[in-house]
Amino acid sequence: MDEFSLIDTYFKVITHYREDVIFGIGDDAACLHVPPGMQLLVSCDTLVADVHFLSTWSAYDIAYKAVMVNVSDIAAMGGSPCWLTLALTLPTLDEKWLQQFSQGLRDALNQYQIALIGGDTTRGPLSITLTIHGLVSEGRVVRRNGAVPGDKIYVSGELGAAALAVACEARHDMDESDKATLMEKLLHPTPRVDLGRDLQAFAHAAIDISDGLSADLHHVCHESHVGACLALDNIPIHPLVKKYQGNNALDFALRGGDDYELCFTVAPKNEEQLLASLAHAGLCCYCIGVIEEQPGLRAKTSEGESISLKPRGYSHF
Ligand code: ADP
Ligand code: MG
Repeated sequence: MDEFSLIDTYFKVITHYREDVIFGIGDDAACLHVPPGMQLLVSCDTLVADVHFLSTWSAYDIAYKAVMVNVSDIAAMGGSPCWLTLALTLPTLDEKWLQQFSQGLRDALNQYQIALIGGDTTRGPLSITLTIHGLVSEGRVVRRNGAVPGDKIYVSGELGAAALAVACEARHDMDESDKATLMEKLLHPTPRVDLGRDLQAFAHAAIDISDGLSADLHHVCHESHVGACLALDNIPIHPLVKKYQGNNALDFALRGGDDYELCFTVAPKNEEQLLASLAHAGLCCYCIGVIEEQPGLRAKTSEGESISLKPRGYSHF
């Protein structure tokens, strides 16, 4: 099998049909239709072996997660994911691996009706780069820089499980079913696309939590030239993180990455409408604090004491 039959066999065949793809894989570039009144969102992520995934993960899970991580970036902007390109560097042509990878990619793309429209295939140390394209109505994009003092800060789900899964891969004192639940959170995150679209109407700012709540909220504050005060008691911690981390549980929730929940801010006057809209969609979000004028991150403990928080999370360098 050469490079071209590899592309035909594992990638050209899996692409989801979309009317806005004039043509995709097979030419020097794909040609796409951006509907009038819509704006294009573009985001790129690289996954490197032993940094973003372990060599023990199946090719299915690697592909599936790579897509979800990219979809989450589009969700955080309030957009809808549409098109994907894939730059794949492979050490060898392993057909079993490619078969699984292609299946994981297909399942993930079909969940969101995303079309694979092109890419590049090369030989070298395993590395996967995805570029996702999404659409958002003109002027409705939700950015990191829109938070204003007085805004309430929300997160879309319980935190810390993915980080605990990473920390626990080598632990043998855990219940097997708990371990499986945690691995499911790590391998198959659910990007909050529906919530993101709802946020267009209500939120001042949003970000997806990939590096950890404190680090990602810090990005929002920095870009918006504001600060934040968190109510530590209100931070939703995954029950298994409480079970296995005890006193350290809050730390996991604040600093653990890879959860792909959304963190967003909303003006108090829009809160009621937002909550009604979330309830209608069957979504649950947690109010964890408030945006303040004073820069930096602070937290209120259950005793009402105010402490300063360091925005710690994952950083490659
Ligand atoms: P070029 O020589 O113009 O760079 P290639 O020979 O690399 O084109 O790729 C041929 C076609 O296959 C292109 O349309 C490209 O977008 C697509 N393609 C290559 N690799 C992949 C991949 N891993 N996934 C999806 N499409 C791919
Ligand atoms: Mg090429």
